[in-house]
Amino acid sequence: MPFCPNCRYEYVAEVKSCPDCEAELIDELPDLFESLKNVKWVALRPLPGVVYAKMIAEVLDQNEIPNYIHSLFGSGAMGVITGADFAGSEAKIMVPETLKEKAQAIMDDMMQEEE
Ligand SMILES: [Zn+2]
Repeated sequence: MPFCPNCRYEYVAEVKSCPDCEAELIDELPDLFESLKNVKWVALRPLPGVVYAKMIAEVLDQNEIPNYIHSLFGSGAMGVITGADFAGSEAKIMVPETLKEKAQAIMDDMMQEEE
């Protein structure tokens, strides 16, 4: 079964990309996630949309902070939702509790640049 590397959701075989974050699905979750199974995940401050969340998640990746996007937008209509529909929906980035402060600082930096 394919998984989303960001959301860690499992999807049916026909689904090729994640309806929540549009990431390409992978066959198995990488070891990174296996080793993080027992980690306590905490949410950063909510963001005004998945677009922002994805942008920040990318920078967190570059800083080697494991993360995934938790969208409060339902994923019921699988495959129908497009990226544009996510505008205005709230999204949260989940990070390991031990890295929250660092991740939040990076996110605050980035959100300031946006204004
Ligand atoms: Zn996803």
